[in-house]
Amino acid sequence: MTTPPHGTAAGDDLQFDDPGALAAVVADAPRPLLIGLDIDGVLAPIVAHADDSELLDGVAAAVGRLANRPDVTVAAVSGRSLASIRSFGLPDGLELVGGHGMERSDRPTRPLDDEEAARLTELRRLADDAAAAAGDGAWVEQKSASVVLHVRQADRERGSRAIATLDEQCAAIEGAEQKHGSEVLELFARSASKGAAMATLGTEAGAATSVFVGDDVTDEEAFAALADFDIAIKVGSAATIAGHRLRDPAAVLAWLRALGDAL
Ligand SMILES: [Mg+2]
Repeated sequence: MTTPPHGTAAGDDLQFDDPGALAAVVADAPRPLLIGLDIDGVLAPIVAHADDSELLDGVAAAVGRLANRPDVTVAAVSGRSLASIRSFGLPDGLELVGGHGMERSDRPTRPLDDEEAARLTELRRLADDAAAAAGDGAWVEQKSASVVLHVRQADRERGSRAIATLDEQCAAIEGAEQKHGSEVLELFARSASKGAAMATLGTEAGAATSVFVGDDVTDEEAFAALADFDIAIKVGSAATIAGHRLRDPAAVLAWLRALGDAL
């Protein structure tokens, strides 16, 4: 990282970067630039139900302006399915990466093989049972190679117990992987990570500097894949290995706009 970490654990006396100053840091970095952006909690405020999520006003224009530059590649890198990402109305010119790197907007997704398909069927069954155990407000999201249990709107105690049980059950299934998020647990029939996705995008773009902006636990995999001279930006106050922090999606928007001006 180019600057010392700004606190590493939730509860520390956190310092947030000034969006304008952080834009200047990025603008001064060697180009081409790859800018990877998580969506939920970064470009779109977190809402109670993921289906109700929307981009913050002005985000589409700000990222579109960056993506139009010849020396900048902008990618939306999300755990959401590609179909779900497309519903946000992000501008043309962005690379869209869904399913934690499993799906790309510029190429077909490899279909599941028999073993993966059987694993997904089993994971879906377990997730449905877990949602029933968590009770009202819990729901299951189906993706092409994974399944997600959401408990944000469920009873807190029952929800966390259901997640813990599901986590154990998934760990016992050979070849399956799980990722914890904020009151969600995603079970994968095929391995994927935002870190691997960022590494691939960086190579393809010939990026001299990669920037990643994320708020959730799974975004730490992307931060970990960055080199020391790259720029990792955590949104919010949760624990992180990132060297920079922005407070919330409004600060991200201010940073995107300032970066557009600075470039
Ligand atoms: Mg997020």
